[in-house]
Amino acid sequence: MSGRIIDGTALARRIRQEVKEQVDAFRRDAGRVPGLAVVLVGDDPASQVYVRTKERACGEVGIRSQRHHLPGDATQKEVLELVEGLGKDDTVDGILVQLPLPRGLDPQPILHAVPPAKDVDGFHPYNLGRLTESGEGIHPCTAAGVMELIRSTGVEIEGKRAVVIGRSTIVGKPTALLLLHANATVTVCHSRTADLAAHVREADIVVAAVGRPRFVRGDWIKPGAVVIDVGINRLDDGKLCGDVDFEGAKDVAGYITPVPGGVGPMTVAMLMRNTLAAARARG
Ligand code: NAD
Repeated sequence: MSGRIIDGTALARRIRQEVKEQVDAFRRDAGRVPGLAVVLVGDDPASQVYVRTKERACGEVGIRSQRHHLPGDATQKEVLELVEGLGKDDTVDGILVQLPLPRGLDPQPILHAVPPAKDVDGFHPYNLGRLTESGEGIHPCTAAGVMELIRSTGVEIEGKRAVVIGRSTIVGKPTALLLLHANATVTVCHSRTADLAAHVREADIVVAAVGRPRFVRGDWIKPGAVVIDVGINRLDDGKLCGDVDFEGAKDVAGYITPVPGGVGPMTVAMLMRNTLAAARARG
């Protein structure tokens, strides 16, 4: 039996449509449109593509986006001053600092300078703390998208064994916390995990966020498992692939996300949702 492919593009489109309707209502009630400020430093081509994708999504749902582009040699102080200024700007509901920042800049103080109420990426320690404590606050977009994709299958999360591969603050840790709040039994695997395959073989839900092409093999997957592939890896021929060997895993998994067309569009849809929520909270 072939696993069902979870269509992240279609799910993200439905969520953007919902957000658009809610943005329209917000505009009527509040008399203004939600605003997202995107801070881009340097000329990393992948970051430029991501920023354009986010701006396009803003245009589609009716959020006003403004791009603040600093040169790659911008100083820590310059970036901090920009972010602090946006924090005080009343027309800005959400601030997104596109990562990675160029070498030489320390991302942590910059992310900490985003006021928690405008932290639509959910990376500020206040929001990460609320996520840890109660599952509340603004959730990091990719982790929130992973949860929506799992929920879209109809598979019950409670009581299931979930394995998250990767422990970054951006993806792995918040995803593990959201799964924990949904009452899964969660194992977080990482680069020092012994016998990764044995952990994955036990998992009813697998989330791969490693950054290595086709790293998770099809014969590691438990038959019927839900497999969410966060990885975005560019191959030598220019094509994108995930962290899971899709061809090997798709006939074993119950449900699996493709790359592209899985987690990627959901991350952007969740950013739209977070920005609207931040605007509503500010009134
Ligand atoms: P990261 O480099 O910060 O973290 C990678 C994690 O993988 C680390 O925690 C590390 O311990 C783990 N790891 C490395 N080698 C391993 C091994 N041999 N065995 C087990 N674990 C290992 O990366 P990240 O920011 O978490 O991103 C992970 C991937 O997800 C990347 O491909 C990135 O491009 C992608 N990503 C996609 C989206 C999206 O919207 N789809 C968003 C963010 C990141």
